Amino acid sequence: MHSYEDIMNQFVWNNKYILSEGKSLYHAFLHNTCGISKVGDLVSKDNIFLGSEKVLNAKLTPSQYFLLMGVVSAIPNEWRSTIKGKSVHVDPHPFIEDSFQVPIRGEMFDLSSVSSKTLYREFRSRKEIPPTAQAKFKEEYLSLSIDWKEIYSAVNVTLDTKLRVFQYRLLNRIIFTNDKRFKFKLVDLPSCTFCKTNEESLEHLLFFCKITEFFWKIILLHATQM
Ligand SMILES: [Zn+2]
Repeated sequence: MHSYEDIMNQFVWNNKYILSEGKSLYHAFLHNTCGISKVGDLVSKDNIFLGSEKVLNAKLTPSQYFLLMGVVSAIPNEWRSTIKGKSVHVDPHPFIEDSFQVPIRGEMFDLSSVSSKTLYREFRSRKEIPPTAQAKFKEEYLSLSIDWKEIYSAVNVTLDTKLRVFQYRLLNRIIFTNDKRFKFKLVDLPSCTFCKTNEESLEHLLFFCKITEFFWKIILLHATQM
């Protein structure tokens, strides 16, 4: 039987009594950065778990906070009862009472006021990596300001699968124009299929080729007459 003082002085990490699925715990971040080493570091002055200054000042991300909740739940029930028994009032929801702030688009919000959808979007946006082709387009057209959101949503313009695939391949620069095919030795010359004078790059094929230009003019003419 451990006394209250005894429990509060127990080390959290690599403790043979504090086990999760039969294993003792160690989280370097919580130990080194947040300075959590003893059970007492997790408990507030009025014996509320995760209400201590160290925890509140740690500015944890939700996933780090959940990790810490896991640590608390690994503390033996008997110890937790001893700690809670010391508290003046019995709080049935120690985790909910202390508000937890999460950053959403650079501003802090109370976790309880944030919808799961917003939270999901926030975390997803942190993981999002722009396609490599996007960097390539930016590099080639430095002066153009491009609204990528608008461009990627352009896939909804058509229901035609072939056109959608073409749009996708165009945005990711995976259209095999003659300049690429020439590099792979699939054609004898890198020249344009239509005009035969210039090298067939993506840009040449879709914009700068004389034949393409003529094609767009006809399309525009038809479109404006509709
Ligand atoms: Zn051409």
